Amino acid sequence: MPYSFNLTQHILAAKLLAIATLLVVLSGCSPSNDFAREEYLLQGNTMGTTYNIKLVGQNIDVVKIQQGIDKKLKQLNQEMSTYIADSELSTFNQSTSLKPFNVSTGLARVIKEAVRLGELSNGALDVTVGPLVNLWGFGPEYRPETVPSEELLAATKAQVGLDKLAFKNGRLSKSIPELYIDLSTIAKGYGVDLVAEFVEANGINNYLVEIGGEMRLKGFKHTGELWHVAIEKPLSTERVVHQIIVPKDNAVATSGDYRIYFEADGQRFSHIIDPKTGKPINHKLVSVTVIHPSSMTADGLATAMMVMGEEKALAFAEANELAVYIIEKTDHGFTEQSTVKFMQYLK
Ligand code: ADP
Ligand code: MG
Repeated sequence: MPYSFNLTQHILAAKLLAIATLLVVLSGCSPSNDFAREEYLLQGNTMGTTYNIKLVGQNIDVVKIQQGIDKKLKQLNQEMSTYIADSELSTFNQSTSLKPFNVSTGLARVIKEAVRLGELSNGALDVTVGPLVNLWGFGPEYRPETVPSEELLAATKAQVGLDKLAFKNGRLSKSIPELYIDLSTIAKGYGVDLVAEFVEANGINNYLVEIGGEMRLKGFKHTGELWHVAIEKPLSTERVVHQIIVPKDNAVATSGDYRIYFEADGQRFSHIIDPKTGKPINHKLVSVTVIHPSSMTADGLATAMMVMGEEKALAFAEANELAVYIIEKTDHGFTEQSTVKFMQYLK
């Protein structure tokens, strides 16, 4: 049953290769001379994955900072990991009561954003989709690698939907006992935001925070150059840089599933589910990269647009003035498109 952060684990091996390697540091521009040039690297584990944090400054007490970060992340997990049986979210998921449930500030913040993005994307992002994810075999506990029957699909779909969840006055409730919330699409992004906020609260304004491929940057590298990030070519076998971007003081999230899928009857099945059909997405869109001040928002929007497919995703991005870069599969390889707002970040 607990598949959220666990799922991220097996996805992560692939995703880390695909996306965390985006942290390519190349020659840069806009040198700034007015800060000390020491760079500290903090590494650790959280949410079934790794974190890499670069802090730039002078005489930073990295031991103290890392202790603070680990404490924040531990609390996050205790609030919203479905991998931890007695986390706050697991307790809500396991409960069959329809009575309102008091939630912590952290969990409230993530649920609120999940619901907002769910509505904004017209249901493309749906944090109640867990039972369908499991049905299609993307939970860690069982991988049927077969296509479920229409009956089973319909019965599982009946347990899914943001309309079955209510969040009012800081209290969460479900309208069906089976409702299951899985925040794995935006929890890593939220973790990045939490760490970035903590780092800034400690007076550090030049940093790069990355958790499991989600990242947020601010200021400059120790060399005085802006942080650079590489978007990879969407190949399942190779790792080749596709495009360099300079995101400035923003978060970058990429959703893509060219490395995570199963095959049956010659067809590939993605780990991202379209809540409308209850089935894995199946279109030409191979990856979506979003640049946004909030990592949590970027993370959720990237997944939402993966669900929408190329045409709807671009229309959605333009309508909401989002900085988005997509890669599509063609008969001969790949093509990419970016929204007007993304262009300023292309190198
Ligand atoms: P990606 O980088 O591909 O976006 P994420 O880990 O951020 O990957 O999110 C994908 C995970 O979210 C899936 O493995 C599944 O657990 C869950 N998921 C799948 N489809 C949806 C959806 N439509 N809305 C919300 N969560 C989803
Ligand atoms: Mg995502």
